[in-house]
Amino acid sequence: MDPTPIRADGACDRSAPSPLEGGTKGMTATTTIGTALGESIVAQIDRLASISESETDLTRIFLSPEHRQAADLIRSWMEDAGMAARMDAIGNVIGRYEGDQPKLPALLLGSHYDTVRNAGKWDGPLGVVSAIACVADLRRRGKRLPFAIEVIGFADEEGVRFNSTLLGSRAVAGTFDKAVLSSRDHNGISMQEALQHFGLDPDCIGAAVRAPSEYLAYLELHIEQGPVLEAEGLPVGVVTAISGATRLLVTLEGKAGHAGTVPMTMRRDALAGAAECIIAIESQCRKDINLFGTVGVIRAEPGATNVIPGRSTFTLDMRSASDEHRLQAVSLAVRTIEKIAQDRGLAPQIKVTYEQRRTPCADWLQAQVSSAIARQGFRTLSLPSGAGHDGMAIAEITDIGMIFVRCRGGISHHPDEHVALDDVTSGVNVLLDVIEHFEPKRAG
Ligand SMILES: [Zn+2]
Repeated sequence: MDPTPIRADGACDRSAPSPLEGGTKGMTATTTIGTALGESIVAQIDRLASISESETDLTRIFLSPEHRQAADLIRSWMEDAGMAARMDAIGNVIGRYEGDQPKLPALLLGSHYDTVRNAGKWDGPLGVVSAIACVADLRRRGKRLPFAIEVIGFADEEGVRFNSTLLGSRAVAGTFDKAVLSSRDHNGISMQEALQHFGLDPDCIGAAVRAPSEYLAYLELHIEQGPVLEAEGLPVGVVTAISGATRLLVTLEGKAGHAGTVPMTMRRDALAGAAECIIAIESQCRKDINLFGTVGVIRAEPGATNVIPGRSTFTLDMRSASDEHRLQAVSLAVRTIEKIAQDRGLAPQIKVTYEQRRTPCADWLQAQVSSAIARQGFRTLSLPSGAGHDGMAIAEITDIGMIFVRCRGGISHHPDEHVALDDVTSGVNVLLDVIEHFEPKRAG
């Protein structure tokens, strides 16, 4: 069945959705037992995973027909869970479950529902669907809390289409960069045009901005996308911070020459120089458990079998949960590159292409997540997130916290991404536990 297409509810209309009417009176309170919540979440994850631009893999990008289809489905689930739901001016889907009085500030939950190309089905949707499942469970038990709950499915976190990440959450946080509207996808369509085609008004993106006073906190459940929880034998963990990252573009200028005539001792081989730099950086990061350094792209020019590479270019992505530590590591890596270049007669050029500070999860939210994990019978493990998340943007308007759920082999951004049913259940039970015991931050 085709769900009714949704549009931005008055893209420039900032008015909040109307409070929910009754609908839960007379229901008996029972707690969720066993894996019922987990099973319904897995079924919904599978439904969402069937919405893809490709028949053979999962790819769902911003402002595509699949974006619309997934948004309609999520919105219908929100409504089924007793929420007033709408689409905002950037294409996020927002559901609101009122507290025991109308118009209370909200505990914000959510994650993203766009994907990378050839994606796994859990990255993002697990957080959206779990949050909706928690609200559905509260409503089924007729439970209203002394605060509202909002669930947002963010329209674009991965940044696949326009090469700019966190578009949905930045719009909500008021940090959306309007310059991005003129960036074009690989078909030459600008974001401005894509928004219009989707039925959204690019001039009204400001209407998606939310005020800090509307929220008590943001809490996101997400797969770990790494192997730590699995190695520790734990289904869930508490996130301490979203690591900062620095990205460099390094160019080494050497001298091209004939592969058969230039003696080995007289060469200025830019690719061999890059190789030495990469090994040195890897060895620097391997000695340090808190450091992650990756060279993901390398290019040699002119790029012929029988020509000594005259120029090489490579990227470096350096991350750590500590900004100071990351910056020190980056300067050490830069000094290493410069030294290797000098020894080999190469001219280095090093450009910083991206710099993102660490985003801490609030201590008071970490404490509440830890207590919930303990109440659910698990050992509490705190770990940083090496991957970026919507919380990085939302931290501009409210304190953030994150719950990680174990994924098989730590694999993510790949069709083999997998979360066991028991872990889905543990994750959603922890989320529900945090919600039901949630206490807003005390003033001062
Ligand atoms: Zn994600």
